Amino acid sequence: MQVETTARDGREAGGSTASSSRQESSGGLWDSVKKAAFVIGSGILFLAAFGNSLTWHLQRFWGASGDFWQNMWTKLCMAFEGHDAALFFLGTMLAPTLVFWVLNGLLLLVDTTTKPSFITRYRIQLDKNNPVDPAKLRHAVRTVAFNQVFISGPMVVVVYYLMSWRGNPCGPELPTFHWALLELAIFSMLEEILFYYSHRLFHHPSLYKHYHKQHHEWTAPIGVVAIYAHPLEHVISNMLPVVIGPVLLSSHLSTTTLWYCLALVSTTISHCGYHLPFLPSPEFHDFHHLRFNQCFGVFGVLDRLHGTDAKFRQTKQYERHLLLTSLTPLNESIPDTLKKGQ
Ligand SMILES: [Zn+2]
Ligand SMILES: [Zn+2]
Repeated sequence: MQVETTARDGREAGGSTASSSRQESSGGLWDSVKKAAFVIGSGILFLAAFGNSLTWHLQRFWGASGDFWQNMWTKLCMAFEGHDAALFFLGTMLAPTLVFWVLNGLLLLVDTTTKPSFITRYRIQLDKNNPVDPAKLRHAVRTVAFNQVFISGPMVVVVYYLMSWRGNPCGPELPTFHWALLELAIFSMLEEILFYYSHRLFHHPSLYKHYHKQHHEWTAPIGVVAIYAHPLEHVISNMLPVVIGPVLLSSHLSTTTLWYCLALVSTTISHCGYHLPFLPSPEFHDFHHLRFNQCFGVFGVLDRLHGTDAKFRQTKQYERHLLLTSLTPLNESIPDTLKKGQ
């Protein structure tokens, strides 16, 4: 592994066009599809394992009998009898918002105090947000809260009426776990397509300065910046790609809630600015904030198809764009600058 890294560094340091084009062609679109399938697949496997073991522990130690999740759902339905809209709002608005703020509250503690060092040592842009600018942060938090209350809130109400018209999102029977996982995979693909194209559209010069420049004020993003955006961008690029899947598939509220929470956790990780071990790599979207005209998608499949990751693929950030499975920060194992004589 070490030998391979050194050889790659040597090639880049030499600046040989032939070797960089060889590197370019070694991973085509198929390679990128495989990577995306790996990310979605491992996420789903993790959820399946987590779901199974959680159920097992609950049944084993808490003495729950029969189908634990179905029983929980039945109790919840009975508690909200005749108040489906309230139950839907709880699942699609309150629960995901709570998950977002608990996770971002923890990240903000790190961003504002620059402690603990065992987290900050994984920072991607080492010299940035050390600590984060308090005035800039206050403005971002206010905008995010505005977007959640005045944009996401009403959109979720519209989604409720759309989904109730198509079926019953709060039906008495839970979907099977495997069906829910299949739906999550479909939602992820829909999100990649809609986010990529709407995001690229917002980079069109005539739209960029009015709507998307605000999100790019943060060239070194932090978690909460994930939904720091102009209201129109928040509707088209943040909300629509996520809410469309459950509406099209007439999904059950339980699946929709899980999906919204996952989408918010995933976008927070993409923006958090720390490449932490055993979590999805945020290098791709962090590079988008750094360079503006590269890496528009979520998983990178459409960027490979359209060649909008060509420059990214020649960078150190691309070499670091992997699942970190050791405790050594990638800034140390794959440093930015080469030492003299290498
Ligand atoms: Zn962003
Ligand atoms: Zn952008």
